[in-house]
Amino acid sequence: MMENQRNIELPGTSMAPGMAMGKAFIYRDILEDDLFRYEVKPDQVDEECERIHRAAEQVLQDLDKSSHRITQQLGSYQAEIFTAHQAILRELLRSKELRQEMERKHVNAEVAIQRVFRRWAGKMKTDKNKNIMERTADIMDLGRQLERTLMGMSVHPLEEMPEDSVLVASQLLPSDAVFFSGRDTAAIAVERGGPASHCALMVRQMGIPGIYNVTDATEQVTAGELLLVDGFRGVLVKQPNTATSKRFEKRIKSNRKRSAKAKKQCREPAVTADGTRIPVMANIANREDVQVAVENGADGVGLYRLEGLFMLRKNVPTETELLDEISETLRPLKDKPALIRLLDIGSDKNLPYLNFDEEPAPCFGMRGVRRLLAHPELLRVQIRALLRLSQSRSVQIMVPMVTIKEDMQAVRRMVQSEASEVGISDTPPLVAMIETPAAALSVREILEFADALSLGTNDLTQYTMAAGRQNHLVHRYFKDNHPAVFRLIQIAGAEAGEATLGICGELAGRPDAVGALLSNGINLLSVAPPLIPTIKDAVRQPRIWQE
Ligand code: PEP
Ligand code: MG
Repeated sequence: MMENQRNIELPGTSMAPGMAMGKAFIYRDILEDDLFRYEVKPDQVDEECERIHRAAEQVLQDLDKSSHRITQQLGSYQAEIFTAHQAILRELLRSKELRQEMERKHVNAEVAIQRVFRRWAGKMKTDKNKNIMERTADIMDLGRQLERTLMGMSVHPLEEMPEDSVLVASQLLPSDAVFFSGRDTAAIAVERGGPASHCALMVRQMGIPGIYNVTDATEQVTAGELLLVDGFRGVLVKQPNTATSKRFEKRIKSNRKRSAKAKKQCREPAVTADGTRIPVMANIANREDVQVAVENGADGVGLYRLEGLFMLRKNVPTETELLDEISETLRPLKDKPALIRLLDIGSDKNLPYLNFDEEPAPCFGMRGVRRLLAHPELLRVQIRALLRLSQSRSVQIMVPMVTIKEDMQAVRRMVQSEASEVGISDTPPLVAMIETPAAALSVREILEFADALSLGTNDLTQYTMAAGRQNHLVHRYFKDNHPAVFRLIQIAGAEAGEATLGICGELAGRPDAVGALLSNGINLLSVAPPLIPTIKDAVRQPRIWQE
């Protein structure tokens, strides 16, 4: 009877595949805690401001240290966020709001920071000038660090996490990653976050199993209790009964064996049981990703996200700067092909130096190719750089957020006119990203102007299920393996004919989905670099990964 009452499953969404078990380490958000508070008289405000100032100096120094640590652990691209945080913190502290909060409400520095940072983060969500991805999360992250420093917490709570713990948190922000990236964390379960959050990207990069969207995880789990994490299905199990624990242990063991075997064979091609070779490529954004991709036997790059090259700068890069950076990044891949995506901005990603007008529903507005066609100079500089690159290596140009065939027609027109201007006769293939239901349903028309297709299932899911990728309130609807999404994939597969139909959304990285994807006409998979061996193995023997 007792046994039947246990085995409580807390459902979430898969963030990174893998299975693990370990003791829970709970990490709560300090900005949501009840803080130490006292009344501040007008003549004490200066002193409180001085405390904030000292704490800020300390945080700025700590950000330097974090930057060095992450550069060593993960690479300089991941570390850039800390330099950006220093700039944001300096900018925020110029505001008079913290002083005013203490003067008007007679609250101490800790409470003022909690209130004002929450207010700033709230405003960010609707601010037309928000210019850095996840700016709200950045502000909350800085608020937490200031708070911790003010309260004299000399060590980050995650530094006290025992090895092999299952980290359970409300949300994980960049500054947190510094404290678990190097250690042996068994798995991660968070309440909030999306597939494209910093947390998800870092966890995948580290190869740790992870789940997000676990409702009230920090409330429902008790510190130190045994947890089972299924990062394939996106489920957390607490109070497992003996039978479940044993089953889990068995699966963890066989998974480990499978992963080790897959890693050994990662340089071999992935060939299906009926003899079809499926290229398994890497989704990359920087040099470190390429290194991991090469180590894991990538057959090339199936999605090079260029956003990082544009977002952490003060102006649009020149043609030569783009060419140098891209070709240097791709160099370790030697002659393997690279599908390079034109800048995908708009919606939640904007460029600080181009002041785009505010839009009523940005996610349905000027993003991806729509934005590029509205700013031909931005498109031209990329096309020229990629045309030049195509003279020395195998390149394909991917076009984000295609909805109608005219999107591809316009890009093709520009590629041809720029090519004839610089004297290039052999232009690189154009790949349309299929990320909207309209595109999935009009593949035949789009192929009039595209040479190949790649399904961006992250966006395809959000537009099909009408559920924002980053909105944890509707995560129940954000299911990239929902039959409705598969139906669209099936239609696209049936209409693609001989054209390559790849998939570079997160769905491609789920070994249990590989069999279904291949039988629906997908013939190229592109995934986060650490997942390549597992996905190659799933191509070779999909049934094993579906159990
Ligand atoms: C996608 O939408 O599935 C995709 C690969 O593009 P991104 O995640 O960069 O929007
Ligand atoms: Mg997309």
